[in-house]
Amino acid sequence: MNYLFDINEDKSVEVEDSYWETSISIAWNLFFTPGHCLEIRAFHQAKPLAGFYDDFERFSDTVKHLSGLCEGIFVTQNPVPRALLSLYPKNTMNGSYRTSKGGIQCNIFDGHISTTGDDDIELETSLVIDVDPIRKAGISATDDELRKAKEVAAHIMYFLDCRLIPNYLACSANGWHVVLLCDPQKVTHETVINRKNLLRMLAEKFNTDEVEVDQKVYNLARIIKLYGTISKKGRCDVESNRLHRISYITKQLEYDRFNFHSEFANDYNKIKAEKVSQFNSRPNKRYDIEALLSASRLSYRKKKEGLWELEDCPAAPGGHKSWDARVTQDPSGAVGFSCFHNRCSEFTWRDFKDYLQRQLNVEVREYMK
Ligand SMILES: [Zn+2]
Repeated sequence: MNYLFDINEDKSVEVEDSYWETSISIAWNLFFTPGHCLEIRAFHQAKPLAGFYDDFERFSDTVKHLSGLCEGIFVTQNPVPRALLSLYPKNTMNGSYRTSKGGIQCNIFDGHISTTGDDDIELETSLVIDVDPIRKAGISATDDELRKAKEVAAHIMYFLDCRLIPNYLACSANGWHVVLLCDPQKVTHETVINRKNLLRMLAEKFNTDEVEVDQKVYNLARIIKLYGTISKKGRCDVESNRLHRISYITKQLEYDRFNFHSEFANDYNKIKAEKVSQFNSRPNKRYDIEALLSASRLSYRKKKEGLWELEDCPAAPGGHKSWDARVTQDPSGAVGFSCFHNRCSEFTWRDFKDYLQRQLNVEVREYMK
């Protein structure tokens, strides 16, 4: 039996299908760029199979054939240059080992199987934000873990919505994707830095003790779980609710593309500036954030280690009371202030410190120990 996490029911339900056709074709439409190709990568008994595709029918047939036979099936999220179509017979899967393939149709080659490298990618068309429950490697997530991760994904989507950045939710089987799409942008040195910064910023704002934004998946050739296929991580165990689920992307009438990096230019600069101030900050000194917030008589709650939420946002006093403002301190002692609201995005730690000193007459330095 296969499973699918149903958003409306907020739990996994049994399904008979071993693939989800609509999601496979949406994935093709979102990630295939005419004049380029897509790589399918699948893992069978922990060994890779790869194939380069420029034909939707062949792509779809291959994916349907592989789903359920392989542990996981993945696809490239940015356009792969056509040159890679010549690596193997195009629109077919290829493997490099001769052990049992369990009935998988693929060509066998001796030696190492070549896949898409980061340097191969010339255009950026998407960034898939990966939101996963923290759990032991190699096992499937439970419904409870998926619900907690969905909550974090919803916060990220709200944050993006406030900035009018189109974003789409997908279930990766064991976590969630928030998919950002843009018109093809030529890759430059900045592209990779921007992708890294965006994931870092989202991780700092939204990670909890149980759920995290994966900061390692910024690279351009990064493969993502292919929507519409089954993920078979570990044993499918109904009793412990660790299930083999079909991934899928939520269906929309249209998927909009938007130059999301340009929207974050200020934030990226802020990250650079914070890095400098972190470098200059006095080593071995940290703020006692809770003592500081208590002395300031701000209503706060500790969300997790290094993250406190404020009920009333100091960037917009009286404007919104919804626990959307946050104070952070990382293990190095670097501090930060942020708020989900668009109009508060310019308000930094420095502004927050000024506010405490000038408006609330708190001597901030006294809380550094
Ligand atoms: Zn605010």
